[in-house]
Amino acid sequence: MSDGTDTPAGLVRAAISAGLDVVAITDHDSTGGWQEALEEAEGTGLTVVPGIELSTQLDFASVHILGYLVDPADRALVDEMARTREERLGRSEAMVRRIAADYDLDWDDVLAQTAPGATVGRPHIADALVAKGIVPDRSAAFQGILHWRGGYYRPHRAPLPVDGVRLIREAGGVPVMAHPGARGPDRLFDDARIRALVDAGLAGLEIDHRDNPPAARERWSGIARRYGLITTGSSDYHGDGKPNRLGEHTTAAEQYQRILELARSS
Ligand code: AMP
Repeated sequence: MSDGTDTPAGLVRAAISAGLDVVAITDHDSTGGWQEALEEAEGTGLTVVPGIELSTQLDFASVHILGYLVDPADRALVDEMARTREERLGRSEAMVRRIAADYDLDWDDVLAQTAPGATVGRPHIADALVAKGIVPDRSAAFQGILHWRGGYYRPHRAPLPVDGVRLIREAGGVPVMAHPGARGPDRLFDDARIRALVDAGLAGLEIDHRDNPPAARERWSGIARRYGLITTGSSDYHGDGKPNRLGEHTTAAEQYQRILELARSS
């Protein structure tokens, strides 16, 4: 329901084919895919862990917080996700206006790549650029026109990471920072900011992820040990939207158990 190219049911079938026994579905700022995924998994032996990937913002950086097992009806969380989806829409339109000054692309091209109700983001603009033959694939779009230094990038408003973490906790969920090493050598999170996140209720860190280079995994694993945080591994599979393959990284059974034990809702 955000930027993966499989349907929620298709994701569940792909997870079964990949031989997984547990899979999480975590769309950006949306729980809209849960029901279809849970229904598809029923009776198959595959466990679906419903979650979200909440957009937050710190300085100029976009920080994604996974929220496993949140209450999908929690009012504050529902409102915040709706606000962010709205902000993402305006921001995507602003980016397309900038791109349209140099390339043959308009907003209708992006809408043509966007499922009704989906959380709109750069991947949809990328798909429109591909459909128009401007770039060969999503990755090329992200490396060029859509890169945050590509000249067309616009940020979108989102809550602070500490507020996102609190929101997920208050909705009964388990907040895990997504791919913390993907931003490169990290001056964003110094010790004080990490402590503030832990104090707000951060429960875990997504360590085993293809975008976390070895040095970052080492740093963030040390942080997990220091604060007793859960560590996870995830594929961040997006269907054909990214090269990531389902199950290329997995979460250890005992870490998964800790997530289940912390969850207060779904
Ligand atoms: P946005 O949140 O709109 O700024 O876009 C970020 C989304 O784009 C995330 O879901 C990323 O997984 C996805 N993304 C980032 N880099 C790439 C890439 N190189 N190829 C495809 N998708 C990407």
